[in-house]
Amino acid sequence: MLVVDNLQKSYRRHAEQVQVLHGLNLTVESGEFLSIVGASGSGKSTLLHLMGALDAPDSGRISLDGKRIDNLRGRARDRLRSRTFGYVFQFYHLLPELHALDNVLMPAYIEASVLGWWGSRKEWRMRAMAMLDRVGLGHRWKHKPREMSGGEMQRAAVARALLMKPRMLLADEPTGNLDVETGESIVNLLKELNAEEQLTVVMVTHNLELARGTDRIVRMSGGRVVEDEKPAILHHRLLSAVG
Ligand code: ADP
Ligand code: MG
Repeated sequence: MLVVDNLQKSYRRHAEQVQVLHGLNLTVESGEFLSIVGASGSGKSTLLHLMGALDAPDSGRISLDGKRIDNLRGRARDRLRSRTFGYVFQFYHLLPELHALDNVLMPAYIEASVLGWWGSRKEWRMRAMAMLDRVGLGHRWKHKPREMSGGEMQRAAVARALLMKPRMLLADEPTGNLDVETGESIVNLLKELNAEEQLTVVMVTHNLELARGTDRIVRMSGGRVVEDEKPAILHHRLLSAVG
């Protein structure tokens, strides 16, 4: 589904250029749940941002269904960001003045023209409520972020990421700010969405335990993929599927 080919990315820091990705290659299959692990500073967030067209590489290519997406500009890139990818971050990035439902509606507010919004606001609200229900937060729709726990805020952020029905969810340390148990429940939610909605998930995590429960683990080091494995759990799942 997504092919990353010989990706190079550097940042300018003061006078020097720091090379972060050194010709990185990666393929993400449609429908899989892929974890990316690696030491901090190894370029995981940089890679995720590039995959999700939030930033542009220096060189190399990223293709989605065989079409290049690394060099899109303007409307085409905006559409890709809002329709194809859903994003979840470590610190939720909810707007503090808005209740959960309005936070979930944010992508629709941004995407729709004023006229388009008034014509279809009921449908959008219903869809946003359905997403909140889906993540187990329907009863909390009127709560502002400060009235929610970390796990609830992350659930709201997941609901927001799902609003536009993305094909691929990009989650950057979604459990990094949560206790172990709550983190597990968030990853379980992502696993359900992956299994039930055919949502492709790419998750960066520090937690190898959580990564082991996913379809595939890619380890990054020095701006490259150095290890790519399918954990045993996948084999168990395949074996039980064939009886
Ligand atoms: P990870 O997510 O694996 O911790 P990052 O992709 O965030 O790694 O960062 C990789 C390297 O790039 C780090 O050395 C970081 O300091 C640097 N870096 C990341 N973003 C920027 C930026 N916007 N400007 C300058 N340097 C950056
Ligand atoms: Mg990071």
